[in-house]
Amino acid sequence: MLYAQEPYKRTIKLMGSRFDITVVAKDPVEGNVFIDMAISEITRIEKLISSWDINSQTSKINRNAGIKPVQVNIELFNLIQRGIGISKLTDGAFDISYASMDKIWKFDGSMIFMPSEESIKASVVKVGYHNIILDKENHTVFLKLAGMRIGFGAIGKGYAADKAKDLLKSKGVVAGIINASGDMNTWGKQPDGKEWKVAITNPMDKNKVFALLPITKGAVVTSGNYEKYVNFNDVRYTHIIDPRSGYPATGIISVTVFAPKAELADALATSVFVMGIEVGLNRIEQLPQVECIIIDDKGNIITSKNIEIEKS
Ligand code: ADP
Ligand code: MG
Repeated sequence: MLYAQEPYKRTIKLMGSRFDITVVAKDPVEGNVFIDMAISEITRIEKLISSWDINSQTSKINRNAGIKPVQVNIELFNLIQRGIGISKLTDGAFDISYASMDKIWKFDGSMIFMPSEESIKASVVKVGYHNIILDKENHTVFLKLAGMRIGFGAIGKGYAADKAKDLLKSKGVVAGIINASGDMNTWGKQPDGKEWKVAITNPMDKNKVFALLPITKGAVVTSGNYEKYVNFNDVRYTHIIDPRSGYPATGIISVTVFAPKAELADALATSVFVMGIEVGLNRIEQLPQVECIIIDDKGNIITSKNIEIEKS
């Protein structure tokens, strides 16, 4: 029997970010049940990976830095292992152990002076994925240096979006969108048979959409410095920091990555910021089913080979 399918949407704050969850269902009751399922899945993941929640396994790993290995859930272990994989792929531009640099840079408007060179140098001493020691047999994670910390700010929302999508698909939801503040994951099609489309914000004017793109490859993530940044001497420093130098990325104002999974897209969008246009584009071109759109601080749009922009 065929029901008329409709999209149902809810906006909610999870993982400190805005999530817009859309599901295609036969009526509002069913729609709400599905949306509730997605929310509990995202909440579950937040409890596992949050470095603010003192009860999370991630916090336990951080508390035991330089002290002892901590046994964790296989899911968290695997996420950390994939995070290290991205570090290797990006020559360390992406690093989940970036977290100790957070003390130096604040992107909430509270910073008045540029940090000193010495303090920046000192902040990266504790950063380095080589010092995350994994034991596959016992599922333990050990941060070798005291004061070292890991965090999933650049990959967690993408992962949560993937998991929520997988869960809903397994429950028979035919189509939907999980949008985690710009980390978008779609499946199926709109009830009228059209592809889902994503609006990419114009980083020069955040109230304007600069392109509307159909998503056919699963996930699309935009990382932009139009939200969290600080200006010193006319240079805009983003909240994405190069773990090798301790300085925030400059020169790029927005990176959009298309990939089969939001987790990969999320991590790569952050990485391209740090790698810069040339190296970033080069890495993206080498990965199958991955594309990107970069906007530099002059407003130039640079895309990987297979992207065609349909301007709105
Ligand atoms: P957003 O989610 O804010 O749009 P990103 O996905 O790019 O942006 O994640 C940025 C966050 O990732 C930062 O706020 C910080 O927590 C973390 N981060 C910053 N620099 C790095 C880095 N080089 N590698 C991994 N994580 C980083
Ligand atoms: Mg990211």
